[in-house]
Amino acid sequence: MTTRRKLVVGNWKMHGTHKANAELFEGLLAAGPSNADVAVCVPFPFLAEAAVALAASDVRWGAQDCSAHEQGAYTGEVSCGMLHEFGCRYVIVGHSERRAYHAESDQLVADKAKAALAKGVTPIVCVGETLAQRESGETEAVVKRQLSAVIHTLGHCVGEMVVAYEPVWAIGTGKTASPEQAQAVHALLRAQLQAATPHAAAMKILYGGSVKPDNAATLFAQPDIDGGLIGGASLKAADFVAICRAA
Ligand code: PGA
Repeated sequence: MTTRRKLVVGNWKMHGTHKANAELFEGLLAAGPSNADVAVCVPFPFLAEAAVALAASDVRWGAQDCSAHEQGAYTGEVSCGMLHEFGCRYVIVGHSERRAYHAESDQLVADKAKAALAKGVTPIVCVGETLAQRESGETEAVVKRQLSAVIHTLGHCVGEMVVAYEPVWAIGTGKTASPEQAQAVHALLRAQLQAATPHAAAMKILYGGSVKPDNAATLFAQPDIDGGLIGGASLKAADFVAICRAA
């Protein structure tokens, strides 16, 4: 059996100020090394300060989105080459907020994941169903469709990405998927990856959606849950550190 090292990633979303960031970084650094791999995905303007604050630590940093293009006349976009220059280890792609508010298609998300891998930045590809889709029994079809676009686009590099299952109804709502609900979807995703790559057993599939210090341990104990993508609770050092310790 493959033992996968857990990964806990903070998704700061559009939060932060120089002052708040400095306090948060200090809190993470004070906690010392963790058994899990730990990263924070910060807004673009804060990448430089994340790099300075975290360089000497085990905490990695990354971005929350990227362009699928390498360079050119794409006003407002940020390329994966730039992220690489800023020392980003990860980039989140296909977060449901980007799919919903920026009309990102499955194919665009897949192209972003490919652009990231081409520059040595690991994409964290988010998939997940809405409440309406869950209630109408479409969860499996939705996450399969979302993952399938990425599998086809990445080809033999599929094994290098990280997947995050984030049920849209659980994000920022305080409604966490039960460990059983989450595990069931993770197992489906793992099976789909298994059909696509010999590396599926080593791949990390994170759970995201209202992970908190008090529910992290039971979620992370599920066989196919390899850590978490943490929104709200990543903005408080004590909570984020507690979640990392649960991993
Ligand atoms: P949440 O967000 O932890 O605040 O629910 C998770 C995410 O959107 O990545």
